[in-house]
Amino acid sequence: MNQPNLLIIGAGAAGLSAGCYAQMNGFRSRIFEMHTIPGGLCTSWRREGYLFDGAVRYLIGTGEHTRGYPMWRELGVLPGRGTHYYDEFICYAGRDGREVHFYTNPDKLEAHLLELSPEDEDPIREFTQALRELGNFDLPLDLSPDDAAEGLHFGRIMLGHAVPMLRWLNVTVRHFAQRFRDPLLREALPGFFQCTPPDFPMLMLLMTLAPMGTRSSGYPLGGSLMLAEAMARRYKELGGRDRVRRARERDSGREQRSSWRAPGRWQRTSR
Ligand SMILES: Cc1cc2nc3c(=O)[nH]c(=O)nc-3n(C[C@H](O)[C@H](O)[C@H](O)COP(=O)(O)OP(=O)(O)OC[C@H]3O[C@@H](n4cnc5c(N)ncnc54)[C@H](O)[C@@H]3O)c2cc1C
Repeated sequence: MNQPNLLIIGAGAAGLSAGCYAQMNGFRSRIFEMHTIPGGLCTSWRREGYLFDGAVRYLIGTGEHTRGYPMWRELGVLPGRGTHYYDEFICYAGRDGREVHFYTNPDKLEAHLLELSPEDEDPIREFTQALRELGNFDLPLDLSPDDAAEGLHFGRIMLGHAVPMLRWLNVTVRHFAQRFRDPLLREALPGFFQCTPPDFPMLMLLMTLAPMGTRSSGYPLGGSLMLAEAMARRYKELGGRDRVRRARERDSGREQRSSWRAPGRWQRTSR
């Protein structure tokens, strides 16, 4: 029987996971990648004994109790890898010398924020209550809205969280921050993502912090490149094929094979 073919451009997280699932579902797939290593934006590098991570600081679905976990297991990412769960995700150092510690536990965060600024009790409690509500939301990564039965189930799950989601989707971080009287809190919230665009919705900030509080999302130890390499390995185990460019060492002109390639399988891709 003829297997359907699938050509995938790019061995980033999307291309690698598409490749793995294509293989699992009976396709004959091939990934074309113009870089010499997999991962795309999902990358990290070592320098002078330090690991610099260029992407994933948290991965939704690291908790075994979540609906996302089986997907990461199928993609070969999580088993055998430790996960770091943050007690404090970010510390914002204000110009006045005080600090805001964004604890992942809503109760601890609430107590800390109230201690910093008791006069901001109303927005503080709204913020931490939203974290509690959204902490229960388990992103249905295992359901496809394209399938009628799964789509219905997907819809039901989303509907159960529609009220807080729609509410916080329509409030920007900057707008909400203006409700605080304390200048430190007014600047700390927009500083949460370092370069928050003016129209960034509060929902994104909440959906980052809330799953950390329930240990649904954490940092996969080893860094982003190892995560991508694990997916690339899984793709190969499933029989997938890929083509990557050979890197040329600019100074010497020598060609360098990337370590994730299977011998004999690789050819140069034209750009
Ligand atoms: C600083 C930073 C922090 C992040 N933090 C997190 C986080 O904490 N948690 C999280 O879940 N996500 C995070 N992300 C997002 C996440 O890393 C990206 O969403 C994800 O890696 C994107 O994967 P992708 O496959 O869609 O795209 P890409 O990673 O961009 O992959 C595209 C691939 O296609 C290749 N390509 C493009 N054009 C061609 C072509 N013509 N021929 C061949 N190959 C081609 C590229 O070389 C690349 O390898 C972060 C991203 C950044 C940059």
